[in-house]
Amino acid sequence: MTTFFRQYYNLRGLLRRTDPGLDRLHPLPDYPLRHSGGLTDSFARVPRTPPLSALGFVALSPTFGWRDLAAMDARAALPLLDVRVPEVYERFDTVSASRFLEGVRFPEAAHHLAFEVFSRSFFADPRELSAAELILMFHIYFLGSAEGLLFDVPDEPFPQALWEPLGDYLRRLGADVRTGTPVRAVHPETDDGGVTVRTDTAAHRHDAAVLALDPGALRALVAGSPRLGTPAWRAGIGALRTAPPFLVSRLWLDRPVRADRPGFLGTSGYDGLDNVSVLDRYEGEAARWAARTGGSVVELHAYAVTGPADRRETQDRLLAALHRVYPETRQARIVDARHAWHADCPLFPVGGHTRRPTVATPHPRVTLAGDAIRCDLPVALMERAATTGFLAAGLLLAAWGVRGQVLWTVPRTGRSPVLRALSAAARRPAAGSVR
Ligand SMILES: Cc1cc2nc3c(=O)[nH]c(=O)nc-3n(C[C@H](O)[C@H](O)[C@H](O)COP(=O)(O)OP(=O)(O)OC[C@H]3O[C@@H](n4cnc5c(N)ncnc54)[C@H](O)[C@@H]3O)c2cc1C
Repeated sequence: MTTFFRQYYNLRGLLRRTDPGLDRLHPLPDYPLRHSGGLTDSFARVPRTPPLSALGFVALSPTFGWRDLAAMDARAALPLLDVRVPEVYERFDTVSASRFLEGVRFPEAAHHLAFEVFSRSFFADPRELSAAELILMFHIYFLGSAEGLLFDVPDEPFPQALWEPLGDYLRRLGADVRTGTPVRAVHPETDDGGVTVRTDTAAHRHDAAVLALDPGALRALVAGSPRLGTPAWRAGIGALRTAPPFLVSRLWLDRPVRADRPGFLGTSGYDGLDNVSVLDRYEGEAARWAARTGGSVVELHAYAVTGPADRRETQDRLLAALHRVYPETRQARIVDARHAWHADCPLFPVGGHTRRPTVATPHPRVTLAGDAIRCDLPVALMERAATTGFLAAGLLLAAWGVRGQVLWTVPRTGRSPVLRALSAAARRPAAGSVR
């Protein structure tokens, strides 16, 4: 499952171009989380208004009691109350997510549930992930916005719900959409300031180019384009890192899962299983198949897979974990199974932010977009990809005097004046301390 959070203002704006009422998105009622130790968390009943959202999570969560709150190092936790973007990177990019959480003394169970789930959704082990990215997530979902952790999902597979309508929209505007044609090189031209884009079979001149690739593909493209950029910029691209592989297993089962199972469940402590989706609860194609056969369609995700090199073994481990999470699946026959292994997500390692490439490049007619690209706004994952895409287009369009899309994000600083003041007080050196 891919979650389209309500804070994804720019991505939703893009989708509205073909679906003005966002009718192809289907709301899911909750973001339940479950730990193998038996604890579960839910965000549905948590109030949405900051700071009540964060306090409400504490009050309602069985993993996070008031006693835990008292045990926390309040001073270390204060930065969570007033996150400023991009300053958060200056202060916390050199610390790992797990070290930050240890410093705050978050209760162990809450660590696993809420925050490990967050950091693993960045496809990274919390020991490797920059704390700044984790703190940014906390800001986006808890204290910086009123939408909470609720989200929508496409009501049909992505091609039908998203890609085909957007492709048709572009064609209607005169675009030539060639999704099956990899770009191999981009060469700057000196005569008119444009670029030549080379594929396996042809080379075409263009006025400008947005390179919107995953980190590995961007590294390869820049390596294959020796005249593009400066040595320092090329070194920054070369340093982009790719997160460890992830596995998405989709299983067609011969019987339904229990009627009360949610469409989506985040999991922790289940041998590498990160979440379980019951697709026939919300996706049309899966629902029609389930109605026809009496079966169910279940999807299992495992991020940052660093375990055994044998893929089959990992797939089997995930299935065994499903049997523990939803025991009724033990008896089910697997009618069909698809296992997709990829390694194309960016990794945001500790200390990597200053080297991260920006939307602007040394070449005025070439810009970058994607989740891996630095964006000094409070956005992450798909919303960062969409936001940098608009920024990249806007920067190029300015050369022709055209104004790009107006962008929206959650506020770049904490919303609560009281919490901002508390956090500022903590930043000031204590009386008598040596500067
Ligand atoms: C299993 C999984 C679950 C996820 N769940 C969520 C979620 O719930 N919520 C969320 O916000 N995010 C989620 N993400 C993350 C989200 O998918 C990424 O943030 C987003 O796809 C990043 O977009 P991008 O444009 O930067 O890169 P990509 O989506 O990787 O797009 C890069 C594109 O470049 C193309 N390409 C590569 N090489 C070339 C070439 N040489 N020439 C031309 N094209 C090329 C690729 O084919 C690809 O289409 C999930 C990711 C995964 C893997």
